Formats: sequence, C-alpha cells, structure tokens
Amino acid sequence: MTKVALVTGGSRGIGKEIAIGLAKEGHDVILTYNSSVESANQAVEEIQRFGQKAIAVKADVSIKEDVDSLFSIISEEVGSIDILVNNAGITKDNLLMRMTEEDWDQVLDVNLKSVFLTTKAAIKGMMKKRYGKIINISSVVGVMGNAGQGNYSASKAGIIGFTKSMAKELSSRGIRVNAIAPGFIKTEMTDKLADNIKEMMLSEIPLGYFAEPKDVSNLVNFLASEKSDYITGQVIQIDGGMNI
Ligand code: NAD
Repeated sequence: MTKVALVTGGSRGIGKEIAIGLAKEGHDVILTYNSSVESANQAVEEIQRFGQKAIAVKADVSIKEDVDSLFSIISEEVGSIDILVNNAGITKDNLLMRMTEEDWDQVLDVNLKSVFLTTKAAIKGMMKKRYGKIINISSVVGVMGNAGQGNYSASKAGIIGFTKSMAKELSSRGIRVNAIAPGFIKTEMTDKLADNIKEMMLSEIPLGYFAEPKDVSNLVNFLASEKSDYITGQVIQIDGGMNI
C-alpha cells in the first residue's frame, strides 16, 4: 500500500538517496530543501520517474514557523505522513577552545531541535492512524564521540536519547521510532574532509572502504517497511565495523 514519507534535507546526499529509495518501494515522498531549488527539482523528477507523487518544500527545519508551514502544505496536499525520516544535518567542526557559541547553537538547532519540531508535528496524524515509522539519522560519532566535533556529537547523541524516549512514549500508538548511526558515507559533507583525515578514518574501518548513500537508503527502506515492525528504540550502526 502506498504510504507517504517526509524526508528532511532530501534534495542531496544521503537524504536524496533515501527519498528515491522510498519512491522505488512505492511510496509518495515529500522532501525538504534548504537552499538549492534546482537540486530539489531534480530529486522530484527522479522520484516521479518511479510513478510516485513527489513534492519539494523549502524549509529550514530548525525554525518552528517553517516546520508549521511545511505541515500545513502536507495537510493540504496529502493529509498526513506515515514515514518521517529526520535526515537534515550540518557540521561546524572545531576544537572546543575555538568553537563559538554560534557554532554550537546552529549545529544543535539544525541537527537536534529540528527532530523535536518535525516529530511533534508528524505524530498528530500518526496517532490518529495508530501507525507510523520515524527514522532519525544520527551518527557513530554520537555513540563514540570525536575530537573536534563536540557540537555535532552532542547533537547526534541527543537524537539517540530522543529516539529511545519516543519509542517508549509512542509504542502504544503503533509508532515505531529508530535511529541509524552511519559511519563514513561518501557525500558533500565528507568530501570536504582533508585527505589525511579520510586516510586515518579508512584505517579504522575493518571492511576497508567508505559506504555509499545507497547503503543507508537500504536500511531506511527496511525500517520503514512492515518487515521491521517488531523493532523500536534501536540505534543501528552502519559503519563497516568502525565501532565494534
Ligand atoms: P549533506 O551535507 O550532503 O546533506 C545534508 C542535507 O541537510 C542537505 O540536503 C541540506 O540542505 C540539509 N539541511 C542542512 N541544514 C538544513 C536546515 N536548516 N533545514 C533543512 N535542511 C537542512 O550531508 P549528508 O552526508 O547527506 O548527511 C545527511 C545526514 O546524515 C546528516 O544528518 C548527517 O549528519 C548524517 N550523517 C552523515 C554521515 C556521512 O558520512 N556523510 C555520517 C553520519 C551521519
């Protein structure tokens, strides 16, 4: 049965691959984008090729007013969503000595507050249907910590705590909430890392290679499907063994 999915930051990188993957599974997709309307339209076209409905909405998901208007559009266009993928995220890496308050606030707002805002808005419809799948994109760094990423790792660890609390709070309404903790996935976010950092990270990956966005999308498809209905409150690491 066709379900409706919302993927935040779905116009590029992992989010785009997730949006396309869900469309391939026969779901309609609403994706949010932050800046580039061209790449959002491209993602919409790719989804439509699979015969699914696709809508791109410009929204800064760290701002309540933007999330409110996103859900007004969802309500008008499709009623409500069945699957929520909280994927939008940023990095502003620095050692704590050099990290500004602004860098801390921005990363926490985009990566963590956004998850609170979208989840709160999404569960109204899910509770009525007594069904929903919420999938939060965390990071292995939220589990392991990482020097130079105090803000990012705190935001991703916060997502894990929120995921577990929501799994407990929402299970009685048929809503499953899980987190995915990717290791190193090849996207624009990781492209900007220096070669020596990439080499160091590669040496810590037992499987010996970096993942593609498709690897995360495959896992999202499983968690969004009925095949995973008995799984909730889990953090699934997809990291080539980086954090064994
Ligand atoms: P990316 O930079 O390519 O994409 C991030 C997406 O988030 C973009 O679509 C961007 O427009 C969107 N976004 C950023 N700020 C936003 C805002 N305020 N409102 C709405 N959307 C916003 O990065 P990616 O590698 O595709 O990362 C996707 C997710 O996966 C992020 O949450 C990231 O932290 C997480 N992650 C990535 C890796 C990796 O190795 N690439 C590893 C672990 C976790």
